[in-house]
Amino acid sequence: MMEKIVIIGGGGTGAALAHDLALRGFEVSLFERGELLSGTTGRHHGLLHSGARYAVHDPAAARECIQENKILRRIAPQALEQNDGLFVALDENDLAFKPLFLENCRAAGIPTRELSAQQALALEPELNPDLRAAIQVPDATIDAWRLPLHFFATARANGARIHNFSEVIGFDQANGAVTGIRVLDHRRQREHDIRGDVFINATGAWAGKISARAGVQVPILPGPGVMVAVHSRLTNMVINRLHQAGEGDIIVPQRQLTILGTSIWLAEDPDLAELPREHRQRLIDLCAKLVPAVKEAKVHSVWHAVRPLIALSGADDPLEISRDFDCFDHRETDNLAGLVTVIGGKATTMRLMAEKTADLICSQTGHNIACKTKTTRLMNYRDFYK
Ligand SMILES: Cc1cc2nc3c(=O)[nH]c(=O)nc-3n(C[C@H](O)[C@H](O)[C@H](O)COP(=O)(O)OP(=O)(O)OC[C@H]3O[C@@H](n4cnc5c(N)ncnc54)[C@H](O)[C@@H]3O)c2cc1C
Repeated sequence: MMEKIVIIGGGGTGAALAHDLALRGFEVSLFERGELLSGTTGRHHGLLHSGARYAVHDPAAARECIQENKILRRIAPQALEQNDGLFVALDENDLAFKPLFLENCRAAGIPTRELSAQQALALEPELNPDLRAAIQVPDATIDAWRLPLHFFATARANGARIHNFSEVIGFDQANGAVTGIRVLDHRRQREHDIRGDVFINATGAWAGKISARAGVQVPILPGPGVMVAVHSRLTNMVINRLHQAGEGDIIVPQRQLTILGTSIWLAEDPDLAELPREHRQRLIDLCAKLVPAVKEAKVHSVWHAVRPLIALSGADDPLEISRDFDCFDHRETDNLAGLVTVIGGKATTMRLMAEKTADLICSQTGHNIACKTKTTRLMNYRDFYK
């Protein structure tokens, strides 16, 4: 009988972990305090990154994104559109950024195709007609819910037990190791204890709150951002501004809506992050520079989500913080066995985050089992509800 691994957090990272560990033969249980994907994962723009957005200032994250972009196209083709993305230059500064952008995309292995303004407008007639240059990259639109639900469906078919509305409210410890968790079942309003061999904290922006319950710290910085959905699909491709990634410079088409993103700030507590009212207009104004029709479009909805940023780089500006991820073995960092935390990353890199964390679990438990998720085609998300 293989070890029992308990995952805390039912976002994309938890979903991909449940899938990876179940495929490797572990006994897997996952506990999510709300509905599955109700944290950050079910609320993001839905951009499958090519990595181009990070190529200049965050090359490690850029390389991970293009690698995972290619893998997800193979294992979950039904979860994404083949619509590509354009990085659009509007002024001299953007044009000056172009050579570095192209060089860094090349170094990260991200394919690019330079388009003239006329070619870009022929593909995307709603672009600002004064654009100066455009570069096509393999960005794509993903369904923020369905992609991780494909992972959940496959994990469950392989034996993983997935519990939603089950909040982890405490840890049991004995002899310097975590041995169990206390779970509040919100459906039945009942508390119960779960025992296991290894516990994985995959709670994203909430990872600091959970680890504090076990008496350890993780370097998490919750980084909220606002998104605005406007009616009608104004572009077919994902549109980014060709400059160092900033605020209000991404437009992601989602079915018959257009998602405008995003802003960024830091919050002490992900549960207390509030939606600043002025961000709605700021995002509309900034995105309208790329696609002027944004200004006239009717607003469908405004919401926010919270990034699980890692506070290791010492940067004060949240835009400067790497979008890379990390796994923490608390036996090494805090002398507390049986607990591992995984934080950071992007929805695009959920499979890779799971692979690295599952590799760590294998080495902790003395198993030499290779990861199979790169080549295992995922089941359809609908199978999760069967
Ligand atoms: C504004 C914004 C836009 C973004 N856009 C994109 C994008 O377009 N493309 C992309 O690739 N990435 C994007 N990201 C990043 C991406 O969404 C996140 O990196 C990713 O979703 C994090 O996944 P996760 O599973 O680690 O965390 P989460 O999805 O937050 O999952 C953690 C889960 O843990 C649960 N939890 C918390 N406490 C407990 C507890 N006590 N017990 C049980 N469960 C608990 C939470 O409810 C939550 O569901 C965006 C992020 C933001 C903020």
